[in-house]
Amino acid sequence: MDQADAIVVGAGLSGLAAAAELGDRGKSVIVLDQEPRHFLGGQAFWSLGGLFMIDTPEQRRMGIKDSPELAYNDWMGSAQFDRPEDAMPRKWAEAYLEFAAGDMRQWLYDMGNRWFPIVGWAERGGSYADNHGNSVPRFHITWGTGEGIIEHFVRRCLEHEKAGRIIFKFRHQVDRIDMENGAAKGVSGTVLAEDSVQRGASTNRDPVGDFSLQSPSVIVTSGGIGGNFEMVRKVWPTERLGPAPKQMIAGVPAHVDGRMIGISEAAGGDVINGDRMWHYTEGVKNWDPIWPSHGIRILPGPSSMWFDATGNRFAPPNLPGFDSMTSLKEILSTGHDYSWFILTQKIIEKEFALSGSEQNPDLTSKSWLEVIKARLLSGKGAPKPVEAFKDKGEDFVVAQTLEDLARGMNQVAGGDLIDADHLRRQISARDLQVDNPFTKDAQLMAIHAARNYRGDKLVRVAKPHKILDPSNGPLIAVKLNILTRKTLGGLHTDLESRMIGADGEIIPGLFAAGEVAGFGGGGYHGYNALEGTFLGGCIFSGRAAGRSKSIA
Ligand SMILES: Cc1cc2nc3c(=O)[nH]c(=O)nc-3n(C[C@H](O)[C@H](O)[C@H](O)COP(=O)(O)OP(=O)(O)OC[C@H]3O[C@@H](n4cnc5c(N)ncnc54)[C@H](O)[C@@H]3O)c2cc1C
Repeated sequence: MDQADAIVVGAGLSGLAAAAELGDRGKSVIVLDQEPRHFLGGQAFWSLGGLFMIDTPEQRRMGIKDSPELAYNDWMGSAQFDRPEDAMPRKWAEAYLEFAAGDMRQWLYDMGNRWFPIVGWAERGGSYADNHGNSVPRFHITWGTGEGIIEHFVRRCLEHEKAGRIIFKFRHQVDRIDMENGAAKGVSGTVLAEDSVQRGASTNRDPVGDFSLQSPSVIVTSGGIGGNFEMVRKVWPTERLGPAPKQMIAGVPAHVDGRMIGISEAAGGDVINGDRMWHYTEGVKNWDPIWPSHGIRILPGPSSMWFDATGNRFAPPNLPGFDSMTSLKEILSTGHDYSWFILTQKIIEKEFALSGSEQNPDLTSKSWLEVIKARLLSGKGAPKPVEAFKDKGEDFVVAQTLEDLARGMNQVAGGDLIDADHLRRQISARDLQVDNPFTKDAQLMAIHAARNYRGDKLVRVAKPHKILDPSNGPLIAVKLNILTRKTLGGLHTDLESRMIGADGEIIPGLFAAGEVAGFGGGGYHGYNALEGTFLGGCIFSGRAAGRSKSIA
């Protein structure tokens, strides 16, 4: 088959969601991906599978009172839409909020998805109620993490493949979208040599042929730019966030290369909000890397003390896991591109989670026995993947005394910016605040507030204790790097995921969904994300493309 009702460029979650819907409608679909078949699912395979949903049974069972009104307030306070071109992204945000509070959970449940019963609390905000952040926990971790989230979309697509409705063409790199009289006609590109490297690793770009395929509908679902540092630096919003970091690590595989964005623009697509992006401040270098500059994000609980490169404690809302963009800006304003957590063994055991399916083998395995063994019966120590980072990760320092810790930090960073006495003054002052359940220290207030949520008290937030008391040790310092991840802006689309050109008109036959479309509309997050909204946006916008009435 070299022509079809629709061509989907990219076999990640959004592409699979679009293709599955088209298959259900009996359409013929060609799905192209530059990577081999064993990469099917794209980034979502590596994800933690966290989904933003509103007022679910999982939330209610944990005693969380959520509502569409509260979620709307949180989203708009975070997005801070302020540009004329935000009109469509805002409509997408509203549509997603309706979906996330409406049939999203039931639809996914009917497909086979299930969630870990303790709902996570990401991006807590830490400022005022009309500003950024989730007022309540909404991060629903899919049972099976990333593999669990793609599983049912993969199954649906493979069934359609078997029935001849979907044809997958792997190692097909699209180089051009072919247009005729302003409408999509198909795509052409290069067939790449087979490659059997481990999933997620860089593959070769050796050409072995070329191809040309026809369709009146081309859906671009090619992901963001996070694996392409050059592109990230090019669109970096220096005025808003400060200078781009000199050193970054990659939270995504190399195939997140952003190449299709220029190809889509050449066909008439229009990128809006290209300067909005979502990178993390708590990246650690993977001691066992799969992709180039492979970094892992620590999903921190709120108790680690957070210091800049020179050992000054950050002020609120720059608390661990509260406000990613404000913290990023604050770090960059120091003239350094890294910062430090200082914590205790007790904190690491309860509060350090690592983002990614491979870092949570118990949740990924879908076995309760594995979860209980890893999280409750592991004896002394954090979950195994966290302990492995503590032992082998180059960013980790473990010491019995603060003097040794400071010495280790200076060795890791190279230099003498950290002074043990300066650290001691700040940590001792904080430790004096621990004896009462009330305090003037904003971070300790936040810790007490978090422990009012049953889920946090159970598995996520350590009981407040003195950091310098050796019985809570050893002391741990972690050098935190800037880790690239998500692209918030993207190709401008309407609510059917149809591309909108620079003249504001729909481009016949061109569609974009998932991260390349800013997860809907060209950036439905605005400036800040509430987490779980990336996978959610891929599913929602991919589904919208697959259901578009414009695909005959
Ligand atoms: C470690 C990790 C953890 C994450 N955790 C979460 C989470 O818990 N919750 C959440 O909401 N989000 C999470 N995310 C983000 C989320 O996984 C991604 O934003 C999402 O999966 C992107 O899906 P996509 O389909 O848009 O693009 P991708 O998954 O990037 O897929 C795009 C596909 O297009 C192909 N492609 C690109 N260009 C071409 C071309 N020219 N020709 C042919 N093929 C091409 C690529 O090879 C790729 O397979 C996480 C991401 C990572 C990496």
